[in-house]
Amino acid sequence: MAELRQILQHLELAAQAYGVDLTLAVPTLPPRRPAAPASATPVVAAPAAPAAPARLAPTPGETTLLAPAGPPDPVEAAFAALRREIQACTRCALHQGREHAVPGEGNPRAEVLFLGEAPGASEDKTGRPFVGPSGQLLDRILAGAMGLQRSDVYIANVAKCHPPGNRNPEPHEVAACLPFLTRQLALVRPKVIVCLGRVAAQNLLGASESVSKLRGRDLCHDGIPVVVTWHPAYLLREPAAKRDTWEDIKRVNRLLGRPEVPKSPGA
Ligand code: SF4
Repeated sequence: MAELRQILQHLELAAQAYGVDLTLAVPTLPPRRPAAPASATPVVAAPAAPAAPARLAPTPGETTLLAPAGPPDPVEAAFAALRREIQACTRCALHQGREHAVPGEGNPRAEVLFLGEAPGASEDKTGRPFVGPSGQLLDRILAGAMGLQRSDVYIANVAKCHPPGNRNPEPHEVAACLPFLTRQLALVRPKVIVCLGRVAAQNLLGASESVSKLRGRDLCHDGIPVVVTWHPAYLLREPAAKRDTWEDIKRVNRLLGRPEVPKSPGA
């Protein structure tokens, strides 16, 4: 830049000497410094300001680094708002004894939603669903029978707060909480809902039958197929029932058009 300015000054002096109007000849030149008198000390060009880096078109790999952040994903934003609402909820008395509400977690666009009854003690401590021994078994069922991780599915409960003494949630507590589940289902829009245990199945379906009566039947909620199976806590007490759950999950795979994952039901 300094060299360019010196060249321009030489051109200006030459133009003045030959009576040429340089501004007409070179209309796009940058503004000129006043010409120094011939006798003055030569102008030392001020250090040029650091040039802005050239703006190159981003390569595909750079796009996410260079592009400004886009608008937030509307589904994730709706989930975040719902989570905050549940964490602050006082609609029923269960909020009084909770350490953490447990809104649910997983892939907000999951094809399958697993539904339990209410958080247990471990879930109340962590604010996450199915993290105790039952949750570990659920993880093994997902991996062994579906080839999925919990981050591939969505996991929620009909009641979002831990009932004292690990009792089942009362009907009026479930009724107060169900609108949250309705909103979760509307956001995830799963292709299949899997009810884990009697409380989840009866409250979602408005049924009064036992799990053994509801298993294997063509059921649906709001047009979404529902598969009823045993709660993982029951499977821990009655390992022989894992064979039933294995068959139920095979049905889920068929409804989703997923390939069966061949593995023994001894998860
Ligand atoms: S169980 Fe549901 S309705 Fe009751 S306080 Fe917790 S979030 Fe609210």
